[in-house]
Amino acid sequence: MYQINMQESCLKVHPFINNQTLPCQSYTPIYDPGRLTSIVGKAGVSTPEDVDRAVKAAHQGFLTWQQLEPHVRIEKVMLAADILENSMSDLAHLLVREHGGLLQEAQMDFRGGYGNFKYYEGIVDKFMQPEEKEDENSWIRIEKKPKGVVVAIVPWNMPVVLTMMKLVPALMTGNTIVVKPSPRAPLALTLLLQRMAAVLPNGVINVVLGDAEVGAALTGHPLVKKVAFTGGCQNGKKVMANASSSLKAVTLELGGNDPAIILDDAPIEELMPRLIKGIFTRAGQICYAVKRLYVPQAMLNDFFDLMCEHLKGFRVGHGLDEHATMGPVNNLEQFRFVRELIIEAKSNGAVVRELGSKCDPDNWDNGYYILPHVVIDQDHKSRLVHCEQFGPVIPITPYQTIEEAIEMANDSNYGLGSSIWTGDYERGKKLAPQLEAGLTFINAHGLGSTAMGMPFGGIKDSGIGREMSAEPTLFAYTDFHAMRLLK
Ligand code: NAD
Repeated sequence: MYQINMQESCLKVHPFINNQTLPCQSYTPIYDPGRLTSIVGKAGVSTPEDVDRAVKAAHQGFLTWQQLEPHVRIEKVMLAADILENSMSDLAHLLVREHGGLLQEAQMDFRGGYGNFKYYEGIVDKFMQPEEKEDENSWIRIEKKPKGVVVAIVPWNMPVVLTMMKLVPALMTGNTIVVKPSPRAPLALTLLLQRMAAVLPNGVINVVLGDAEVGAALTGHPLVKKVAFTGGCQNGKKVMANASSSLKAVTLELGGNDPAIILDDAPIEELMPRLIKGIFTRAGQICYAVKRLYVPQAMLNDFFDLMCEHLKGFRVGHGLDEHATMGPVNNLEQFRFVRELIIEAKSNGAVVRELGSKCDPDNWDNGYYILPHVVIDQDHKSRLVHCEQFGPVIPITPYQTIEEAIEMANDSNYGLGSSIWTGDYERGKKLAPQLEAGLTFINAHGLGSTAMGMPFGGIKDSGIGREMSAEPTLFAYTDFHAMRLLK
C-alpha cells in the first residue's frame, strides 16, 4: 500500500497497455499544491507510438470483450468496483497530495465513482437486450452494439468520479477504453486504473499519460470511435474538431459559470451553510459550483454580512490537515488568475472582503493558498461575474425584479448548472424551467446536489451529451443495428 511521505516520494507511475506497464523516456514531477517543496511522485509521459499501441491494444481487446453476454461483462466490471472501493483507503490520501483537495473531498470522489458502478449494474443488461417484432409482412430486429475503442480524457479536480462516469457505461455496454488522466493529478487515478485493469481481460482498460499533445493523438486516432472529454471549454472545442476527422462520437462536459438566484422569500439563515458549500467546496474548483450570486437589492447588505460571518470560521490549509475546511487551488495558472480577478474587482471599485484564517501560516507561501473572498459586484458585465473563476471568490450582484435576475442569469455563454433559493417550493419549481442550463437545483447546488439517473451535462458552451444517466448516456456508447426481413 502507498505510504504517505510528506517530504519526498519515489513513487513513479507509468502508462499501461494490456495490463503491462510501459517504461517512459521522460517523467514529470508532480508537486503537492499545498506544499510545493514536496514532490508527490513522478508520472511518465507517453509518446505518439505509445498512444498508437494503446489504441490498438484496446481495439484487440474489444474484439473479444464485445462478444460476452452483457450480464457476464457486468459481473466482471463489478470486480473492478470492489477494487475501487478498497483502494480509497490509500489512494484518497495520495489524491489529496497531488490535487490539493481535502481528504473528505477526495473520499467523495471515490464514493461518487463507486456509485456509477452500482447504478449501471442495475440497468445495462436490460438496455442491451435486442428488440424483435414480427407480423405477416416482415421481421424486424434491433440490436444495440458497442462502438469500439472509447477514449476518456479527464481533468484533475475530481478525477475518479469523472473517469468512472465514462468508463463504467463504456465497459458494461461492451466497449474498451483508453484513459488519459490530467498531468495535474495523474498518480492516484493511474494506480487505481491499473488495479482495476488487472481483474479484467487484457486491453479492456489502458492508460496513456501526458498533456494536450497526447490527448490530441488519441482524439485523432482513426481506430477510436468515441471520445468522452471533461475539461475546459476551449479545449473541448479542439477535441471536437480533431475528432471530426473520422466522425467520432463525442461527449463534452465543459466549464460552467453557474448562477444562483436568491429569492426575497429565501430562509437565508437556514440555507447559508448549504449555499456556502455549493460555492467553496474544493476551493470553488467544481464545474457546477455556484460561480455568481444574484440577490434582491433590499436583502443585499444582510445577505453579504451573513455570508461573511459564516466564512470567518473557514480555515484554509493542507488537505490532510484535519483542521482545514478548504484546501489550496491546484496550480499556478489558476492561482494567478484568481488573484488577478480579485485585484481587478478591487480596482473597479467593488466591495471585496477576504475571510477565514490560515491553518499553517508558516507553510502559506509554500502552496497555492487563497482565503475565501466575497465580492459585491454591481457590474453584471465585469470579468469576475462573466468568466469561470474556478477558485474561492464569489461575486454577488443585486437585482430589482425576478425578471431581471433571470435575464442576468441566462446572459452567459455557459449553461451547465444553476439554482433558485426560496422558502416557497412551488415558486422555485415554476421559475426553474426559465433558466438556460442543463441542471437547475432548488435550494441546493454543487457537489452532492446531483443524483444518479439525473442526466448530468450542459448546454451552450458547457458541452454536449449527458453522463450519469440511463438512456442519454448509454445511447452515447452504443450504435443501433436494425435488421429487417421482408416476407
Ligand atoms: P483542461 O481542459 O485543461 O484539461 C482537461 C484534460 O484535457 C486534461 O487531461 C488535459 O491534458 C486534456 N487536454 C487539454 N487540451 C487537450 C486537447 N487539445 N486535446 C485533448 N486533450 C486535451 O481542464 P482542467 O484545467 O484540467 O480542468 C478544469 C476545467 O474542466 C474547468 O473548465 C472545469 O469547469 C472543467 N470541468 C468540467 C466538468 C463537467 O463535468 N462539466 C467537470 C470537471 C471539470
